[in-house]
Amino acid sequence: MKKEILFKNNFIINIIKKDLFNKKYKIIKTRFPPEPNGYLHIGHVKSLYLNFNIAKKYNGIFNLRFDDTNPIYENIKYIKSIIKDIKWLGININNIYYTSSYFNKFYNYAIKLIKKKLAYIDELSKKKIKKYKGTLINFGKNSPYRNRSIKKNLNLLKKMKMGYFSEGSICLRAKINMSSSNIIMRDPILYRIKYIKHHQTIKKWCIYPTYDFSHCISDSLEKISHSLCTLEFIENRILYNWILKKLNIIFIPKQYEFSKLNLTFSILSKKKLKFLINKKIVNGWDDPRIPTLSAYRKRGYNPNSIFSFCKNIGISKKENTININMLESYIRNNLNINALRVMGVLNPLTIIIKNMGKQIEMILMLRNPKNLKMGFRILPFSNKIYIDKYDFREKPNKKYKRLILNKKIRLRNSYIIKAKKIIKNICGIIKKIYCYYYINTLNKNQINYKINNVIHWVSKKHSILITINLYDYLFKVSNPIKYKNLISIINPFSFIIINGYVEPSLFYSKIKNSYQFERIGYFNLNNYNYNYKNNIIFNRIINLKKKKL
Ligand code: ATP
Ligand code: MG
Repeated sequence: MKKEILFKNNFIINIIKKDLFNKKYKIIKTRFPPEPNGYLHIGHVKSLYLNFNIAKKYNGIFNLRFDDTNPIYENIKYIKSIIKDIKWLGININNIYYTSSYFNKFYNYAIKLIKKKLAYIDELSKKKIKKYKGTLINFGKNSPYRNRSIKKNLNLLKKMKMGYFSEGSICLRAKINMSSSNIIMRDPILYRIKYIKHHQTIKKWCIYPTYDFSHCISDSLEKISHSLCTLEFIENRILYNWILKKLNIIFIPKQYEFSKLNLTFSILSKKKLKFLINKKIVNGWDDPRIPTLSAYRKRGYNPNSIFSFCKNIGISKKENTININMLESYIRNNLNINALRVMGVLNPLTIIIKNMGKQIEMILMLRNPKNLKMGFRILPFSNKIYIDKYDFREKPNKKYKRLILNKKIRLRNSYIIKAKKIIKNICGIIKKIYCYYYINTLNKNQINYKINNVIHWVSKKHSILITINLYDYLFKVSNPIKYKNLISIINPFSFIIINGYVEPSLFYSKIKNSYQFERIGYFNLNNYNYNYKNNIIFNRIINLKKKKL
């Protein structure tokens, strides 16, 4: 990441400035605490960006902590992918921690709470616990097991840990207040049984602390100064503070909440993304149609553009949905400067230049007119070229400004041509067009006329056949989060495979990942194998221009 990354001022920065002014903390420490139960998506980057940059701005510490207290959904492959994605973003992590490495500590704290009569073992079923919790209108009801003796509770906790009980039959709850107006404070569960191998602790534990019990203690153990989370935890903050206070923990981090990122045409929920993957609606976590970082990487998005986006969406407490056009404009701006230009024809139509011999002309072109440092490329021009079939019309309307019979048009960076004759096959489909070219017009107009309309082309003989994955929005509606049935709103044209032809400079330029196919869009090399030259696959990163919706 660039050093000079700036921050839009936000309420969290203001709090930190004040805390530093009041010498409340010696060092600013933040953390990013993902559950390793899926891949990171763009929403996570909002949190990562905030936490990382706060630490960076104030010479603090930024930790990655795997919040691994629910082994049912966790997997080592998610841990690996999260680390890989953060590295790809260019974010430096000071320490990598695991909540699971504090399991012993949590257990001792659970004993402490029991001894203070602030926790008890409950034997109500899951269903009953839920029922006894009450509602926003009705108070909860005390569990009949709420007033066991300390000794009995300690004994049961020990047995729970030793595997005497079945999953769901028994749990540890905090003893707070079943009549609290905040439902979260109605005797929340602190420990539950899960007989499942944990990726870090293997089979050492069969009881696992809940988020509420483990998160505040982990933050405190790591001396996190500002514990930043998203708005859904606002009600949990009271519990966060309650636990630390009742355990007489001295270092109490402060929790602050900010709004989650929502993005039009996108689903930012690991659970829903997992559903789409399991149903084979998309091809895994790196399918370029979903907003995970591995998908963005495959598609050809650049971390700097993602950061520019994060910088500008800001941080607030207000829920809102950001238009995906904003993200895309940063992607485009970056590619405009960094992508190599090539010409590519996706719907080939053959043009025969009748007045040109068999010679091959080599034309020098800039690799990127927006970035002269990228140098030049050489393009062969011959009497057989491909243009895009949509750049020719037999029966044009008045607005049509591309190739038509008996009219001149410029071939990009090349000559002016005029179409003279259409050749069709027996079904009436246009096979080729005979044209004439104007010899003195290479990259310049003739004195007496000006041609402004330009189309792109490739020399037929020299072009390279490629496969192109055309990706579009996965959903046909802009607000998929409002829909329960995701399958019903899938865009059937979100992934189309076509073939195309590109100019040969692709081979002799140093292979880069991102290209602009001139007049079409940006494409990312998916695979390239010198041994299989006719198996080159490109992914469409993004269209050249904003999509009209
Ligand atoms: P998901 O809903 O995708 O499962 P999560 O919140 O359960 O997300 P975690 O792994 O718990 O995922 O998230 C790690 C951190 O990222 C948390 O601090 C969480 O608040 C934050 N985060 C998750 N989604 C977003 C989002 N859309 N915008 C901003 N921050 C997010
Ligand atoms: Mg979560």
